[in-house]
Amino acid sequence: MTKQVYEKLENIVIIGNGGRENSLAWAIQKNNQIKNIYIIPGNGGSEKIKKCQNLNIDYENKNLLIQTLNSLEINLIIIGPEIPLAKGLGDFLRSKNFQVFGPNSDGAKLESSKSWAKSFMKEANIPTAKFWKVSSIEESEKIISTVPFPLVVKADGLASGKGVFIPETKEETRKIAKEIINGKFGDSGKIVLLEEKIEGPEISIFALCDGKKYILLPSAQDHKRIEENDKGLNTGGMGAYSPTPILSKSELSVICNEIIEPTIDELIKRKIEYKGVLYFGLMITKFGPKVIEYNCRFGDPECQTIMPLMDINFVNILYKCAAGNLNGNEELLSSSKVSGCVIAASKGYPENYDVGFPINFNYNDSENVQIFHSGTSINKEGEIISDGGRVLSIVCQGEDFDSAFNMAYKVLKNINFEGIYYRRDIGHQVRKNYSFGDI
Ligand code: AMP
Repeated sequence: MTKQVYEKLENIVIIGNGGRENSLAWAIQKNNQIKNIYIIPGNGGSEKIKKCQNLNIDYENKNLLIQTLNSLEINLIIIGPEIPLAKGLGDFLRSKNFQVFGPNSDGAKLESSKSWAKSFMKEANIPTAKFWKVSSIEESEKIISTVPFPLVVKADGLASGKGVFIPETKEETRKIAKEIINGKFGDSGKIVLLEEKIEGPEISIFALCDGKKYILLPSAQDHKRIEENDKGLNTGGMGAYSPTPILSKSELSVICNEIIEPTIDELIKRKIEYKGVLYFGLMITKFGPKVIEYNCRFGDPECQTIMPLMDINFVNILYKCAAGNLNGNEELLSSSKVSGCVIAASKGYPENYDVGFPINFNYNDSENVQIFHSGTSINKEGEIISDGGRVLSIVCQGEDFDSAFNMAYKVLKNINFEGIYYRRDIGHQVRKNYSFGDI
């Protein structure tokens, strides 16, 4: 029988290997009661964070995982990425009596099947773009030729943020739908979603949920496209800022009443006990806010952007969510500052790119600057090298967005690896005085 230690909160495990997991660890280590944070598997920057240690074990090796968690007397497990959540890692760990922050596979379906999420929204009357579900070229042809253009084309399943296309012409729409149905994303594209294209600024809202109650994190705005001026392919996210001034208190209360609460009520109605973060990707259209997508985990890079604003109490709130006992009015914020994040990526991302380039850092963390590693590792010579499409998340806080982003771009000038690429216009919506030429 497994015996867990719940009376104290000292030893934490975070599953994942990106900037998101490193920023969670960084926010959690600030709390004095925390003794050890183990990241499974972590990356080249994780062990630079106080109290952190990488554990290079495969979470799919269930026996080894449980043995390790027991021997380390783990009090709380935070599952970062969507894939282990969708595969039921939360269900498994809960069945072994661990406290887990992250939904079971039933709740993760909100992200792992876009068509399931759309039907969920329809059932609960949650505002979202009109949609059509197709699974053959004939069906897609029928929809594309009869419904108004433009349409957005989406692979139903998980595709690392790369399965969404906004074609410019009907011909291109047909071509992309066909490619997805023919296997561009493997099983993730067995069903294709064709969606009405809606318009408006996008924001990300995060609700920390305990199964019944929720508490909101500051809102954030991501930058999905690879190129400046929001052009080019969709990526996992090229930068973010938080909080979003475009959202007034009254708009937020509309979002709570029309979107967040109906979502949680529908989960409860379906007997899905959702303990983790529920991400709402929203578009503020002229007809009001609409859901673009749900995620079952923290957004990356929004998480890196928001974590430096968190109070030392943050980890206790995650624990309360896992244990199902939020009271709903906990304090989260430590500062009135704003935060901005710019991603340094590998040349070629989100398509093909090379890795293995040594990274030169001529800048150290300081109070309002964090360099979270997103895709790095350490080579045999002990050098930190690029090891992913998104390599580093440069996060800075300031009294206003101009000062936060000026600092982030200043830091970036002192970081280098072969093929480094970053957008120079992150935060353009909230920066008053900037031009690309200065960066
Ligand atoms: P998703 O992965 O579903 O969030 O989609 C990625 C990005 O595609 C979103 O952040 C939007 O910018 C865009 N997008 C997705 N669905 C729509 C839609 N129905 N209308 C307009 N843009 C969309």
